[in-house]
Amino acid sequence: MKKYSLAATSLLLIGTLINLSCKKDSASTTTTTTTTSTAAVPDVFKKFNTSVVISSDGSYITIKSDGVPDHKSCYFATSDSRYQAYNGTNTAFSKNPNSIGTKSFTFKIPASPAVNAAHEATPLGPIGVAVNGVPMYNQYAGPSQPLTSEINSFDQYNGHPDQNSNYHYHVEPLYITLNNTKSALIGFLLDGFPVYGPLENGKTLVSADLDTYHGHTGVTADYPNGIYHYHTTADAPYINGVGFYGTKGSVTQ
Ligand SMILES: [Zn+2]
Ligand SMILES: [Zn+2]
Repeated sequence: MKKYSLAATSLLLIGTLINLSCKKDSASTTTTTTTTSTAAVPDVFKKFNTSVVISSDGSYITIKSDGVPDHKSCYFATSDSRYQAYNGTNTAFSKNPNSIGTKSFTFKIPASPAVNAAHEATPLGPIGVAVNGVPMYNQYAGPSQPLTSEINSFDQYNGHPDQNSNYHYHVEPLYITLNNTKSALIGFLLDGFPVYGPLENGKTLVSADLDTYHGHTGVTADYPNGIYHYHTTADAPYINGVGFYGTKGSVTQ
């Protein structure tokens, strides 16, 4: 009698375990059969600030941001807690008359970037987006006008607002490389290729180390199998060269 009840208890226990594992299986099946129109966002985009909203439809990665820097600037109103008087190293610093506005940017970049032999020239205005949601501009102040005098209006983190209150970077965003190292991911250009800081494998790159689009192909921390990528450098053209390496997506605001 005693023996029998022990066996019955064992059977009960086994039954409970089978039940538990069955429940687990059915729960995970439900999760995997959920279908939506969105695709997984690649892990590299987790490097963007959480204030930047990122989604994917499989063909394009959509990046939405307000374009406001996540760091202090002398271009915020003096009454704003994010205001900080210029404390950078440029002795010729001269503030421009513009201020930082809150925008509504939508960048759409190819999920699978590919080279485009046409290498379309980069336009004035946003050509890419940094990991903090701030737009990146090319090396010109206006049509074929070099940045020469504009450089003196870059704030302590190398950004400044234009006449439309769009804050942007033309050169290495110092807040990003200060916090994430000089070899960090800076962001992406509209063609979907990533942009990195100036340091690579212990060497500080200069424009002469890169091609005319200001990049090269190789392994990066985020792409162990290698990818074409741009770099920021301290010498012109700073972020990009004569055009996009790949086919550009779009930006609206
Ligand atoms: Zn500018
Ligand atoms: Zn590189």
